[in-house]
Amino acid sequence: MGKPLLNITRCPTCGSKRIQWVRRNWRDDFQGKPYVVPNLEFYECPDCGEHIYDRDAMRKIEAHSPAYAKSRAQKKSA
Ligand SMILES: [Zn+2]
Repeated sequence: MGKPLLNITRCPTCGSKRIQWVRRNWRDDFQGKPYVVPNLEFYECPDCGEHIYDRDAMRKIEAHSPAYAKSRAQKKSA
């Protein structure tokens, strides 16, 4: 398990101190197309369900999300 770039000890949404750094497969969908980001590490608040992503997590999501497929294709054509 990696080290979080952010040091969060309290949920910014509900103030819970139970917020924790977790790693799991993260599921979402973009325009009805589901996708999975495997082994994503992020902060999760068990009290309100808030998720907080650091820079590495955002990069991982971008790498897997169809929402960013276009910019990836543009990079490849260089
Ligand atoms: Zn919370």
